[in-house]
Amino acid sequence: MATKAGKISKRSDKPISLRQGEQFFRSLIEKSFDAIVVLDLQGKVQYASPSTQRLLGYSAEELVGRYAFDLIHPDDLEQTLGLFSNLLQAPDTRLTIEFRVLHKDGSIRWMEGTGTNLLDDPNVEAIVANYHDISERKQAEERQRLLNEASNMLASSLDQQITLHEIAQIIVPTLADYCRIAVLDDNQQIKEISVNHIDPEKITLVRALYEQYKDRTDTTHGLQRLLETGKPELISNVSGSILAPVQDNPELLTIVHTLGLQSYMGVPLIARGKTIGAITFSSVQPHRRYTTNDLLFAQDLARLVALTLDNARLYQKAQDEIAERRQIENNLLFLSEASKILAASLDHQTTFANIARLAVPHIADWCSVDMRTEHGIQQLALAHVDPEKMQWAQELSQKNPPDPNARSGIPNVLRTGKPAFNPDISDDVLVAAARDEEELALMRILGITSAMIVPLLVRGNASGAITFVTAESGRHYTPADLSMAEELASRAALAIENAHLYTEAQNAIGIRDEFISIASHELRTPITSLKVYTQVLQKQFAKRGEENLSRFLAKMDAQLNKLTLLIGDLLNVTKIELGQLAFHEEAFDLNELVTETVEQIQMTTPKHTISIGGNIPQPVWGDVDRIGQVLTNLLSNAVKYSPQADSIIVRLTSEQDSAVVSIQDFGIGIDREHQGNIFNRFYRVSNPEEKTYPGLGIGLYISHEIIKRHGGDLTVVSEKGKGSLFRFTLPYTRGTRLTL
Ligand code: ADP
Repeated sequence: MATKAGKISKRSDKPISLRQGEQFFRSLIEKSFDAIVVLDLQGKVQYASPSTQRLLGYSAEELVGRYAFDLIHPDDLEQTLGLFSNLLQAPDTRLTIEFRVLHKDGSIRWMEGTGTNLLDDPNVEAIVANYHDISERKQAEERQRLLNEASNMLASSLDQQITLHEIAQIIVPTLADYCRIAVLDDNQQIKEISVNHIDPEKITLVRALYEQYKDRTDTTHGLQRLLETGKPELISNVSGSILAPVQDNPELLTIVHTLGLQSYMGVPLIARGKTIGAITFSSVQPHRRYTTNDLLFAQDLARLVALTLDNARLYQKAQDEIAERRQIENNLLFLSEASKILAASLDHQTTFANIARLAVPHIADWCSVDMRTEHGIQQLALAHVDPEKMQWAQELSQKNPPDPNARSGIPNVLRTGKPAFNPDISDDVLVAAARDEEELALMRILGITSAMIVPLLVRGNASGAITFVTAESGRHYTPADLSMAEELASRAALAIENAHLYTEAQNAIGIRDEFISIASHELRTPITSLKVYTQVLQKQFAKRGEENLSRFLAKMDAQLNKLTLLIGDLLNVTKIELGQLAFHEEAFDLNELVTETVEQIQMTTPKHTISIGGNIPQPVWGDVDRIGQVLTNLLSNAVKYSPQADSIIVRLTSEQDSAVVSIQDFGIGIDREHQGNIFNRFYRVSNPEEKTYPGLGIGLYISHEIIKRHGGDLTVVSEKGKGSLFRFTLPYTRGTRLTL
């Protein structure tokens, strides 16, 4: 310390006042870190301190006599001139300003300068300006601004594709003279390249540069390599050796030379460990040579861009998923609605018209159903969101009925039985599909964007096709939509098949009913005469005392009675079908009818004991013969289906408005699955493992119909193996349905 202090005291042993003099001040000015210029009223340099050389590249001698404003950047000239003239107006004032100057090496430098008006100072009589270089600070500020601008822009772009173009706009010229930003898609293929150049005319050149480089495998740097390696690149000084590998490509060399690349850096865009793109920065100015610092900054920027791109992608993916889920829900809803329509009618025309209407606009902007007929392919239904276009669409199909041999469209689907799926229909597709100019014009008016055609496969044959088209909505079909359409088509085909089967069954039933009706009529006459002859013979034999023969004939008569009943039942079925079953109503005593019928049935079954419990307190209203028929049916069934049991219980009770009769047996019972069907015509429970019981399956059908038409109900409660209880109600007053 002592030595150092000693040295200082050695140098400054004279007091300041004694050292003052021109030499002293000159030295002060010349050694000053700031540069100082003295300007006359016109702005001509009268004096420039030596620091000028360091700051501007010009020596003091080179500057003296020149206009200082010649060195000012054109963009700052107006402001500096304004300030100078203000300064001239105000003696003894001082003004500070930031401005750019043109360095002798051609680069632009930022200065902060303070001008002082010393015109009135008799020792100076000039404008004195001292200034220093603030380029570094300015660069830091500018980069911060660039980062802020980029993050603002990126932050506002979550729900939309961020425009790489905008980023390229802010990189040039602050950070580069030209730049490229490339983004990869999910398959690691370049999805988009954005390019910018300070000179807009050179943008195409920069694009061409990538095209020339992209397929080369020998390049040591550049966009393609950046994307492959994911490693940043920095070439501060682009020299000829870098271009050595591409000497064989004169076109490429010309582009590189025209662009005049001086310095280059490139950074990958990395998100979640994966390279999703890259940015390249290029300088064509000799003084802008990228440094490691610049590369670090570029990496900061790249991180920001990558993060935003990734977020935007995730957001988009989530949006797409939501949209897809909605679409699937929509599709399912459509399918279930369409299935209802399919089930509702057996008439194809109406069904398909309804389906086409339902499809628009939920699933399609335009939907048609075409079927193969003996007259060729015919459109069965058509629906369009826009009624006006519907007319065009109709015109289109009428004017140009599909050529059955066409290799595309509906004819092809009908021929191959395979769906046609065109998620994106471009104008080229229309041009290829149209048969003439007029058709093309119509197709363009329709503005189709996406289409799918699914075959209606009936018994393995494509007998028709459903076409779904989108236009106005701009929607594009996805494979999920195609699956939905195929599902619909298979349900529709099933409905067509069912309708065929139904019609066939209806026809068969019609033939059967007609046969039954004719046969029973035809049988009735001979049986009636058989009965008469039997009775006559029986009487004759009885008179002659031939008891044996008479008993046989009595049995024959009983069998003829059964046959008559059977034929009667068959006739009843036909009458019910035709609505011709007649009733003769009156008030009658149900107790009496039950007792009589039980007695008759009891006679046929020595094994069972049929007991009657309870009582109906008042007469009922109805057809006594028909109700007797019901009782006979139910009691005969109870006997028939309980061969192992020995008792049958009949109960008579009363409800508020009706009499209630129940007949319970302890026989084979009825499975739950059959209980709903036994009242249907010709329905019989058959089980191959069980004993078969004779019958036609019409007794319960007729009984149910008779009770229903009396305004009552016939129901069953049964358990397999335990027995059954049939129960019917009969209103005391005239049933509402009796007169039907
Ligand atoms: P069927 O002439 O076959 O007896 P029905 O119409 O009277 O015709 O009865 C329909 C079917 O209901 C019968 O085939 C039988 O399977 C079942 N069924 C009717 N009554 C009984 C019963 N009491 N116990 C068990 N099954 C019965």
